[in-house]
Amino acid sequence: MNIKRNILLNPGPSTTTDTVKMAQVVPDICPRESEFADMMKKMRQDLVKIVHGSQDEYTSVLFCGSGTLNMDVCLNSLLPERKKILVVNNGAYSSRAVEICEYYGLDFINLEFPVDELPDLAIIEETLKNNPDVALVYTTHNETGTGILNPIREIGALVHKYHAVFTVDTTSTYAMRPIHIKEDNIDFCMASAQKGLMAMTGLSFVIGKKDIIEKSKDYPKRSYYCNLFMQYDFFERTGEMHFTPPVQTVYAARQAIKEYFEEGERNKWERHQRVFEAIHRGLEELGFQDVIKREWQSGLVVSVRYPDDENWDFMKIHDYCYERGFTIYPGKISNADTFRLCALGAIDESDIVDFFKILKEALLSYHVAVPVLYGDSRS
Ligand SMILES: *Cc1c(COP(=O)(O)O)cnc(C)c1O
Repeated sequence: MNIKRNILLNPGPSTTTDTVKMAQVVPDICPRESEFADMMKKMRQDLVKIVHGSQDEYTSVLFCGSGTLNMDVCLNSLLPERKKILVVNNGAYSSRAVEICEYYGLDFINLEFPVDELPDLAIIEETLKNNPDVALVYTTHNETGTGILNPIREIGALVHKYHAVFTVDTTSTYAMRPIHIKEDNIDFCMASAQKGLMAMTGLSFVIGKKDIIEKSKDYPKRSYYCNLFMQYDFFERTGEMHFTPPVQTVYAARQAIKEYFEEGERNKWERHQRVFEAIHRGLEELGFQDVIKREWQSGLVVSVRYPDDENWDFMKIHDYCYERGFTIYPGKISNADTFRLCALGAIDESDIVDFFKILKEALLSYHVAVPVLYGDSRS
């Protein structure tokens, strides 16, 4: 079968290999069969292995849904009664966590920092010191809206100094940028099959400390479908998801994990960096400016300013590229017009070189000046 290869430069789902796509085509199976449970058991272990966790100390819990479900699960399940959540917030995804806290009526502190700056560790420490009722601290590793990489190891050290639990949204770094769950001071992290693993949408997972999950058995139950202990407990007792798993997506994820280990953590990260550098080179050649200070970038997402050109129309450029097999994506910064180019997925440097040929063609065909212009560089 010949499947058209699209280059997705959006922040997930990412470009997949044909072998992962085809892994979904399997004989029909009832997921309550032990064959299926055995596959998920192995997968749960592999997901812990990817972040170098010990199988005794850490576990992973699978859910059927997109990545936001993990955020919901961690926030609603890991907060003891009469305790507070601290959200270290410098971007759109941590703001989403704040919204989840609001929806559940949880007690929380929204500690906001500018979206183009790293959070201030001294302020985080001050907040923890002044709020001894904070039991759960939440932040985002790579803020996918801008591509800024947060210092999770340092934040985690503070969180543990003040005896709280540290949950990190690693959805857009997991299986790309190497993570060492223990050394990085993470108690819980999370991801979705369609991002770093380069698999299909519909399967998400939380990875974290068994003892804390077991303790959370007695915490208030705020959701029926999305409770971490309930899903963990069902897995431990039966080997299965509590409710129907995304069967074919699980098969694709199994193939993707196999390919992950074959490529190797280091090679894969080097490939993502190669793609990231190629994106920067292409942008520089066309005169585009990015938003986040280079040394703060995650190496996975580039947030690019719209040029100041009356002929620039993001949707027209998007459509031109899309028709030719390349997908670009709008930004997620409320006070600036940006678009994003991401280094996720089963792509390499040559795909980026091909993309920039098309992007340049698109700019020229819509009479956008090349190199692109910015108000502040013209004056
Ligand atoms: C993609 C992503 C999510 C999940 O988004 P969904 O649309 O629910 O899959 C969560 N956090 C971060 C940082 C992400 O990049």
